[in-house]
Amino acid sequence: MKKIILGLAVLSTVVMKAQTQIIAHRGYWQTQPATTENSLKSLENAQNLKIYGSEFDVRMTKDGVLVINHDEHHGKMEISETDFKELEALKLSNGEKFPTLKDYLKQGKKDKSLKLIVEIKPDKTKEKEDELTAKTLKMIREMKLESQSEFISFSLNICKEIKRLEPTFKVQYLRGELSPEQIKSEGLDGIDYHYSIFQKNPTWISEAKALGLVTNSWTVNEVGVYDELKKQGIGFITTNIPDQLKGK
Ligand code: MG
Repeated sequence: MKKIILGLAVLSTVVMKAQTQIIAHRGYWQTQPATTENSLKSLENAQNLKIYGSEFDVRMTKDGVLVINHDEHHGKMEISETDFKELEALKLSNGEKFPTLKDYLKQGKKDKSLKLIVEIKPDKTKEKEDELTAKTLKMIREMKLESQSEFISFSLNICKEIKRLEPTFKVQYLRGELSPEQIKSEGLDGIDYHYSIFQKNPTWISEAKALGLVTNSWTVNEVGVYDELKKQGIGFITTNIPDQLKGK
């Protein structure tokens, strides 16, 4: 009997562990020594960690090239107002060339076990956002990365545009002002909210799960916050410390 109880305890621990998966935020860059976020090196580091996925940010240059960068600016240049050739002249702080989405997807394709969490950044107009979205999806299809990719955005327009163009693609919303019911009725697949949103709305994780939505939270860099969300059964955590949270 004792053995059975012990066995069940071990099994339930294994199941619990399988429930919360880790996503590296802008790659895994808080290494020793640190590298640059959203660099090819940070993606390669995430691949070596054997975690669920690695997130990165997609923007569009003035001349329509898709690039990987979190901020609106690269150095002092505003990405949406600058041609790629000018942007490319400035290297990343780790010495890499300024990465395009194509460069990034090529590196991502080297390890099919790591999901690519594609954040499409809001743009200045609906037209620009729709162009950025259509171009991103086209490249994902051309590189045959459909089943390895998932999508997130702060723009509800971009989230809905992805679902309109590719209904089977997985899309999670980032901004946090919509309830799980509202996300469901918008036809999206999940919520990826800042952890403070889940602290303010302690029923949302269980409500989302009951509706069959994906649950994810950013950017969880403290073990205590991770433990709290895990206790509520969150599906995914996006973090700058994937090395410390994996297998926890
Ligand atoms: Mg991001």
